[in-house]
Amino acid sequence: MDKFCVFCKIVEGAIPSNKLYEDDTIMAFHDINPQAPVHVVIIPKLHIAESANDINDENKDVIAHIFASIPKIAKLAGVSSYRIINNCGEDAGQTVMHIHFHLLGGKDMGEKLV
Ligand code: 5GP
Ligand code: ZN
Repeated sequence: MDKFCVFCKIVEGAIPSNKLYEDDTIMAFHDINPQAPVHVVIIPKLHIAESANDINDENKDVIAHIFASIPKIAKLAGVSSYRIINNCGEDAGQTVMHIHFHLLGGKDMGEKLV
């Protein structure tokens, strides 16, 4: 738990969120500034990594669990076609340093970046 971290505060309920899914280790909630009709942020509940640069043997199971839960979270969000995005670091536009994955969909996602 990082007391200055927005997502840690969301996990503990100090900042309210529109929660879509939660289990023992991860949580998914609707982004406050949605970039698509469906924009869900998926996080580990513990502050185990600031960014993808911190993924390691100790926390990889939680990251894998996030990915294993994507079909369920997408279904709850009502989409079967979507884009998963991770911004890692400043140049990639990461603003919250608690690792997270964006699930975006609900429209034609337009031009591909890659
Ligand atoms: P990043 O830019 O780090 O990849 O993504 C951070 C995301 O968190 C942004 O899309 C931003 O809108 C979202 N966000 C920041 N603060 C809050 C908040 O208090 N509540 C919710 N639901 N989303 C937030
Ligand atoms: Zn955090």
